[in-house]
Amino acid sequence: MPDLDTTTEVSDPYLDIQGKLETPFDINELEKDHVSQWLVRNDYEGESLRINYCGAKVISLKCLNGHQKLVRTTCHKEICPRCGKKGSLAHRKRHMRALDRLLWSPILGYVIFTLPRHVSDLLPDKKQLSDIEKKAIKVVQENFSSPGCMVRTHLMGEDSGHLHIHINVLFPITNTGGRGKVPKDVLSDVRQQWTQYINQKFNLKEKVMNIFYKFTTEEMQMRHRIRYVTRPVVTAKKFMTLPDSEKKWYLSLKGWHNTRWYGKLANCKYKEFLKEKGLDPTARLEEDIATARKCPVCRERYRFVESINVEEINDNQFIRLDNNIWVDFEIFAAMKAQPPPSGFQPLWVTKDD
Ligand SMILES: [Zn+2]
Ligand SMILES: [Zn+2]
Repeated sequence: MPDLDTTTEVSDPYLDIQGKLETPFDINELEKDHVSQWLVRNDYEGESLRINYCGAKVISLKCLNGHQKLVRTTCHKEICPRCGKKGSLAHRKRHMRALDRLLWSPILGYVIFTLPRHVSDLLPDKKQLSDIEKKAIKVVQENFSSPGCMVRTHLMGEDSGHLHIHINVLFPITNTGGRGKVPKDVLSDVRQQWTQYINQKFNLKEKVMNIFYKFTTEEMQMRHRIRYVTRPVVTAKKFMTLPDSEKKWYLSLKGWHNTRWYGKLANCKYKEFLKEKGLDPTARLEEDIATARKCPVCRERYRFVESINVEEINDNQFIRLDNNIWVDFEIFAAMKAQPPPSGFQPLWVTKDD
């Protein structure tokens, strides 16, 4: 009988020892310490402070009739363990906004513009990243029948340890008589345009840079894709796996928005565009209590009252819905009585922290 080699068994060591420790620890806190210590060591005190104080306070919002909700104040930085979680407030806001602007479409198109590893290694600056994005948008505008689009640049892929910049473009497809399919020659032309542009811009001689095109007419698939593209990418865990030079490059992108809207879906145009179609431009945003600007009980607008520490929240007055939201009993009752009209509850990660 062969020896049983128990050393090859793979398990997460921290999960294994958790129950045997005198004081169990919180993986989020560990990640936070890890990231913020690195930030301090490398002279990013401001960023470290923001991450350390992220979530310590809530803002209290009240409508004219006194219905009240509390929303945690967060730093919205992906490398923050709280904000870099799937379902964080930042992710929810991006996701809901995207649902409002994209989900009405009969067909949702999706193009991924890949870049050779060498481009990531060159650590492109903000201007170069914006140029690449603009080219991707132009390609979509000229080759797909779309009134506008969302561009979100992912700086890493599924793998840890290195950058892998690629551009995602999501867009409604209209005026094609319900067809999402694009002829092969159009796609190969698009691929060629992209390859030429990137080769020229970065002095490369790549044969082909791939672009992937997909489309869907199914609402569930659209939701899934939108949620996936809007998810946090450079999370605390993945940030810490990058070499220091890439960490510093990432932090140098401060102020550069990696999600943008163009055409009729641009921030200054989408409301008018959707209203013309008879759509409510903020319906989904209002469906999620975290992002809703109007009270679900009386539809009056919330107004800012004050900012308080999480420890000061009165448990007799509020019900905690998840990590980020507390509501009073009237709002809670209204939410229970009226599930969102679409029938979809935003199922967010509600694990305690
Ligand atoms: Zn945060
Ligand atoms: Zn109210």
